[in-house]
Amino acid sequence: MKKIRKVILVTGTPGVGKTTLSQILASKLDALYIGITELVKKEKLITSIDDDRKTLIADTEKVSKRLQEILKTSEGNIIIEGHYAVDVVPEKDVNTVFVLRRDPAELMDVLEKRGFEGKKLWENLAAEILDVCLLDVLSACGTEKVCEIDVSGKTIEEAVEEMILVLEKRKACRSGIVDWLGKLENEGQLGEFLRDF
Ligand code: ADP
Ligand code: MG
Repeated sequence: MKKIRKVILVTGTPGVGKTTLSQILASKLDALYIGITELVKKEKLITSIDDDRKTLIADTEKVSKRLQEILKTSEGNIIIEGHYAVDVVPEKDVNTVFVLRRDPAELMDVLEKRGFEGKKLWENLAAEILDVCLLDVLSACGTEKVCEIDVSGKTIEEAVEEMILVLEKRKACRSGIVDWLGKLENEGQLGEFLRDF
């Protein structure tokens, strides 16, 4: 008989901590970790290079096929991490989707340290502020399996611990937990963050 396994997706805007937290979570759960960005690079699952952003464009059809193959041929818990994870893994195969959230001011620090600037920086901050990733996830998966984790002000260990509590059902799995737009508006900082680009 096939072992019961959990398929967990970890998603969110670039810089929220997906890769870091997923790898630690995977080691704690004894799960297989798959980072979509790494998989795409390693197996060259790409269509073309976006000159504007100087990034590789993943071929989502190839990525999706490859991930389904991995799901079919592996056993045990699996954590699949990437900002478009819900677009490349069929919803029926997924148990839990973590959407990591990070306060835009903190996210700006992380992205600047990573060398993001100009359009690329403001686009990603806007995406976090406007819940772009969360809305994508909700439209792909409904609300039931979707658990947002606000990592703002938390250490890596604390954030992972919260994910484990949710998986063990000792903490509620919820979405709609942050309101960056309202927060920035209250602080009079919306114009600072949502720039024209
Ligand atoms: P993503 O994969 O979502 O782009 P990363 O895992 O690469 O994000 O994390 C972005 C940066 O933030 C890294 O430098 C990482 O060490 C740091 N980081 C991640 N989570 C936390 C946290 N909870 N507290 C402090 N720094 C963190
Ligand atoms: Mg990453």
